[in-house]
Amino acid sequence: MQKKLYEKIKDYFINLGKKHRILLPIAICGLFVTMFITRIILYCKRSAKRFACTVFIICCFFLGSSFAFPIFNQGNGFVSTDPKVEDIAAANSNLDFASEHTQDEVDEDEADMNVAVKDESGQLLDEDLVYLDDMLENFDSSEGPEEEELNEDPDFSADDWKLILINKQHPIPEDYEFVLGELSGSMKCDERIVNDLLSMVKAAKEEDIKLVICSPYRDLDRQKMLFERKIKAYMKKGYSYLDAYKLSAQVVTVPGSSEHQVGLAIDIVTDSYTYLDEGFADTDAGKWLKEHCKEYGFILRYPEDKEYITGIEFEPWHFRYVGRAAASVIMEDDICLEEFWERYL
Ligand SMILES: [Zn+2]
Repeated sequence: MQKKLYEKIKDYFINLGKKHRILLPIAICGLFVTMFITRIILYCKRSAKRFACTVFIICCFFLGSSFAFPIFNQGNGFVSTDPKVEDIAAANSNLDFASEHTQDEVDEDEADMNVAVKDESGQLLDEDLVYLDDMLENFDSSEGPEEEELNEDPDFSADDWKLILINKQHPIPEDYEFVLGELSGSMKCDERIVNDLLSMVKAAKEEDIKLVICSPYRDLDRQKMLFERKIKAYMKKGYSYLDAYKLSAQVVTVPGSSEHQVGLAIDIVTDSYTYLDEGFADTDAGKWLKEHCKEYGFILRYPEDKEYITGIEFEPWHFRYVGRAAASVIMEDDICLEEFWERYL
């Protein structure tokens, strides 16, 4: 059938060229185009199975590969993102609270969102800050626990409470126990670190640097609340739940994997700069802490160039207690706690 049609058209152009010399170039062009199209049609017909297989394999690759995910995630595709959100949320946090959330919850009032932004990146409210002045007046650093001996070659143990590694991959063990010590009012932290913390604040004060404690111990509910608020804030900006979850996990620790929940982490600012942002690193207090925290057993937990290991953005205000021996190694070798575990435990 194809062949007949092709021959007919071919004959038509040949006759056209013979009859009308002036139309010869058009006839020749028509002849070539006809031959070209016919060739393609015949080739496709013969190789139909081959083409079908290739298209099928490409489709399988796109649908099954994460490479294709962004295309479908933009809402143009037919794959729903919701099941993926639940998978990742469950895997990341070991908590099922994340999957309970739906898009509906984004439609909350603007005021709540403003509080959320202030909470993590804006100026801190006065009631969230602890100046510790009263405690320092009665504090005698010699009463504290015996100073750790700093050996040349310290022997670290993975069972040491001070060295517990808490991150997204290592959530807080269910049987983890500790006693809360009071700092001021509702502000608490692990009682074993109170003396070292006060010693540090006192030493800074003697150099005219007034350290202000905020967010020491947080229970699971508060950590959940902070995390959920951050997700909502991102969703308000137009991110999907999945993207909002991922971004939130970079700036607020996933509930169940925060050191604040075991009372070993302290957020510290100074009276003249009460923002939890990178600008704190440039203040006198930020610089003093980075230099001296190890002398009191604290480390800068989320350093600037270790985000790819810790999974958390640079937090110059977040200090974690690990004891003097480990703190010296970590701060002097410029490593993070994850690297310390890999090298020494
Ligand atoms: Zn913190």
